[in-house]
Amino acid sequence: MKLSSIRPTVGEVDLGALAYNFRQIRKKIPRGVKLLAVVKADAYGHGAIPVSHRLEKLGVEYLGVAIPEEGVELRKGGIKTPILVLGGIFGREVDLFFRFRLTPVLFRKDSLQLLSREAEKRKKMVKVHLKVDTGMGRLGVPLNLWVDFLKKVKQFPNIEIEGLLSHFSMMGEEESYTHHQWKAFQKALMISKEMGISCRYLHMASSAILTVFPAYSANLVRPGIMLYGSYPSPAIRGLISLKPVMTLKTCIHFLKSVPPGARISYGGTFKTKRESLIATLPIGYADGYSRHLSNRGEVLIHGKRAPVLGRICMDFVTVDVTDIPRVSMGDEVVLMGRQGREQISAEEIAEKINSIPYEVLCGIGKRVPRIYKG
Ligand SMILES: *Cc1c(COP(=O)(O)O)cnc(C)c1O
Repeated sequence: MKLSSIRPTVGEVDLGALAYNFRQIRKKIPRGVKLLAVVKADAYGHGAIPVSHRLEKLGVEYLGVAIPEEGVELRKGGIKTPILVLGGIFGREVDLFFRFRLTPVLFRKDSLQLLSREAEKRKKMVKVHLKVDTGMGRLGVPLNLWVDFLKKVKQFPNIEIEGLLSHFSMMGEEESYTHHQWKAFQKALMISKEMGISCRYLHMASSAILTVFPAYSANLVRPGIMLYGSYPSPAIRGLISLKPVMTLKTCIHFLKSVPPGARISYGGTFKTKRESLIATLPIGYADGYSRHLSNRGEVLIHGKRAPVLGRICMDFVTVDVTDIPRVSMGDEVVLMGRQGREQISAEEIAEKINSIPYEVLCGIGKRVPRIYKG
């Protein structure tokens, strides 16, 4: 037995559900549009290497990570598919892009020089994707400096422009702004065309936009969250059917009966009103089960909801199982996912902690072993 599997707390990753979501996304986008699957942040907490191997089998055209280290990890794990580093080049680590065959997103002039020098040294061409800011206001060359930037890029004969991209800031909630961004992207593409630049990939849409406005797919889309079965915003539920990939589960570690008036967990914030059966679960905020779920969360036991009592601790959670018949130590507990007919989604947890499913999924801790099925 592996040391990491002594504690029963695990994240069960259903790669069959991942494949289902991948196909649903394919169905949503126009024919011929390619897929860049975003696997940054350890595939949103699902394990970048196993997830990428499955996506590779499914025929994904490109993978996307945020930082070069994530790309290196994938190559060391045997991934062959092209990898785009969405966050760009951070410093002088340009040799990694050659050694591990990573494609950088570029929007800084200083990175051009570094990249070109390294290419020269290696007598190689290097592929890049250029990013224009169309209204996200985060990364990307401002539209008014786009011509100037393209001119600069063209001065380097060993830099090959493989893609042009931008990023939407709305999740479909403000149609006019999304449209304005799309128009700005079209303008940027027009400018590049006029300068004689033609490239293989044009891309802008992530999960939300590819679903709400499939016409804005260009010829490559960049879904992340929907591959993992969560919706970028509640409005998108109903537009595409997805299956959650991650189930977070554990087992009851300790069970005891307490009298009315007993205080539960740090600070004694919960006081029992009746004789109660309390189950202690071996998972806590160190595992990504947010402390904001104190006195608010629910878990599934025997297919029924049991409320979290008192504060979430670093390594433990206390829940009320008084109303669940025949509970014993060792029984399975689902904190996120399905059990019987009940289900707790990442969205439900996100709402309770005033966050988004993205943060819930990539917050699941390193201490929780991921196990794979499907
Ligand atoms: C994270 C990210 C995505 C994926 O977004 P989702 O909303 O998870 O689909 C796409 N593009 C860029 C640039 C990103 O950083």
